[in-house]
Amino acid sequence: MMRLLIMGPPGAGKGTQAALIAERHSIPAISTGDIFRANVSEGTELGVEAKSYIDAGDYVPDSVTNNMVRQRLGESDAADGFLLDGYPRTVSQVEFLDGILNEQGVALDRVIELSVDPEEIVGRLLQRARDEGRLDDTEDVLRHRQKVYTEQTAPLIDVYRDRGIHVTVDGMGSVDEVAARVAAAVETS
Ligand code: ADP
Repeated sequence: MMRLLIMGPPGAGKGTQAALIAERHSIPAISTGDIFRANVSEGTELGVEAKSYIDAGDYVPDSVTNNMVRQRLGESDAADGFLLDGYPRTVSQVEFLDGILNEQGVALDRVIELSVDPEEIVGRLLQRARDEGRLDDTEDVLRHRQKVYTEQTAPLIDVYRDRGIHVTVDGMGSVDEVAARVAAAVETS
């Protein structure tokens, strides 16, 4: 069983690849973005708290996000493996995740970083915003999200590289091409 993490800037195609990896390895794909969006649309207390941050392209505070992830990882389907998508996103989230996994006596097997061309991404995201009616995703918000990623999340790559579990995968190309590269990267762990 695998414990995996997929990283990459907004628009890198993490969600699409996450679903494919999860199916291949029979593990749940856990996306904090999806959990937040579900809570926003259901109007839960968590959703109300998260919405303003998400709309602005900022990260939801760690106090909210960390507890949500602890709870999700405690569910039975995640006991033998999981793929995290969109968490951890800050150095303090890395520490929190380390704490959860240490308590369980387990560790991440592999961190897959999807690398993509930033300009191409903003184009992709604007298209997705139009297709999915995510009209709040204006170009300014999308660029802000890229900046937040570069400042707060890109440094995590070094943390995982130092642990020897990080692998970079070229995220440009068709879904199938990228999926084949990701599969190869997971299997060479
Ligand atoms: P994308 O991959 O397009 O950046 P996600 O669907 O992963 O977006 O996340 C959408 C939004 O949810 C983020 O912009 C952020 O506001 C919030 N979010 C998701 N995961 C986290 C996290 N680990 N920490 C803080 N905020 C998060």
